[in-house]
Amino acid sequence: MIRYALACAKGHAFESWFQNSAAYDKQKARGLVGCPVCGDNKVEKAIMSPRLSGAKKRGHAAPPPTEAPAPASAAPASVPGEAKAPVALMSPQEREFRTKLKELREHLTKNADYVGQKFPDEARKMHYGDIDHRSIYGEASPQDAKALHDEGIEFHPLPVLPDERN
Ligand SMILES: [Zn+2]
Repeated sequence: MIRYALACAKGHAFESWFQNSAAYDKQKARGLVGCPVCGDNKVEKAIMSPRLSGAKKRGHAAPPPTEAPAPASAAPASVPGEAKAPVALMSPQEREFRTKLKELREHLTKNADYVGQKFPDEARKMHYGDIDHRSIYGEASPQDAKALHDEGIEFHPLPVLPDERN
């Protein structure tokens, strides 16, 4: 296949595909190559385009160079990086909630003693009056947590923010 950019006597530009150049000559000689705009079959080849594959979009010739150039200062469609931030998907409510969680966590960790693995023991001692009540935080296995809960000891899991797990 070969593509010809054609123009009729009235100046309408169009494109057409032909088996080969001989086929174009034959069809043109028989008046079968007509302008799609006005039907005029007095057409001439404009620029021959020997592209065999459909690498370019078909159907439209390049705009004539006399056309006004597109404004170069057009605003970009998007600012790079802005649309890709995952926080952009959070609703304001979620963001506020997340901030509150963070504040709570910071407040807790600032005002409580870190007791690490001794948390269940410490919590128990406080619960049974062996030591004074104070704020503590640490780690508890699921089993420890269940046991503490069963003993009626009130505690709360520290809020963990999704991107702060370690
Ligand atoms: Zn025409």
